[in-house]
Amino acid sequence: MTHLTMHAVTRRFGAAHAVDNVDLSVPDGKLVCFLGPSGCGKTTLLRMIAGLETPSSGSIQFAGRDITRVPANQRGFGMVFQSLALFPHMTVAQNVAYPLKLRKTAKDQQTRRVAELLELIQLPHMADRPVTQLSGGQRQRVAIARAIASQPKLLLLDEPLSALDAKLREAMQVEIRLLQQRLGITTIMVTHDQREAMTMADEIVVMEKGRIAQVGKPLDIYREPVSEFVADFIGLGNILPVTYDGAGGVSLPGGLRIALAPGARVPKSGAGLRLLIRPEDICVKTTPAADDAAPNRLAGTVTFIRDVGASLEATIDCAGFTLTAATTPRETPGLAPGLPVYAELPPHACKLIAAH
Ligand code: ATP
Repeated sequence: MTHLTMHAVTRRFGAAHAVDNVDLSVPDGKLVCFLGPSGCGKTTLLRMIAGLETPSSGSIQFAGRDITRVPANQRGFGMVFQSLALFPHMTVAQNVAYPLKLRKTAKDQQTRRVAELLELIQLPHMADRPVTQLSGGQRQRVAIARAIASQPKLLLLDEPLSALDAKLREAMQVEIRLLQQRLGITTIMVTHDQREAMTMADEIVVMEKGRIAQVGKPLDIYREPVSEFVADFIGLGNILPVTYDGAGGVSLPGGLRIALAPGARVPKSGAGLRLLIRPEDICVKTTPAADDAAPNRLAGTVTFIRDVGASLEATIDCAGFTLTAATTPRETPGLAPGLPVYAELPPHACKLIAAH
């Protein structure tokens, strides 16, 4: 059992709580992302797992053993940081071999393992090249190969892709994910990019002000966010202040009624309620059929179109509030600013969440 668990882990810097009372269990063989805005405590939590930071209170267990105060170099975890920290005066092969050398692995075994790893990251032809002569993506792969060289039970990645341009970054996300799945290595990755977390993670831990706001599978969090903070952070969403009418519906600003699906969850919230509807769930129509009695049909006017070819986003002003709807030019031809439209909000896609 290599399971990682944390109990009431807290890290204070002076009076401020960088990480506040975190309980978490990381399943074996999975990729877990710590996701949240800048300063929410992601890196501090990862550094405590790595052993580079000591918790003010709480404990961390790994494989059934308390590792809270075990030094980083005795935890046997692999790490890749934003800066990569490759040795510039060494070749690709020397960098990858470094942790094996430290462990005094036999020379022939080192050679075999390095060849295997270079094959894995698809850079066998670059073994003797200085790392300074590699592209950003190639360096990234070398850093990962070095981190997994001594077969760590846990791989820790702190924003490892943030220095790459958007296209390469997306390619590397897929590459790292496939590699992680092939090796079955338990991995924790810090990111502030929700798209990156959605692409790569088995599980996302959304953090807010040092605490865990929600833990779950990416699509579960996207579809069922527990709070306005999470709904707003994960994906695009229309979030509108509403009042529950006690009879399966809510009223929008301006008084319009929106019917919810039967049995819809109504969270308890002292701070009020919000209606969440994702842009792709809104159906935009230029003319409704005469006999078409769709529920939750709102009249509005298109004020802005963001057409990027494959998809189209329309901003619709509905007297008192604004909606963003995602569609395609094929689905809704002829959309243009100034056009009167109907926005239909299917009841099953209308979620109530607690206000922040
Ligand atoms: P980012 O995405 O910007 O890296 P983060 O979510 O990783 O942010 P942390 O770096 O963990 O956040 O920082 C959490 C909080 O703790 C921040 O308010 C930060 O200023 C504070 N903090 C972190 N390290 C220290 C330190 N060594 N001394 C004092 N305060 C610190």
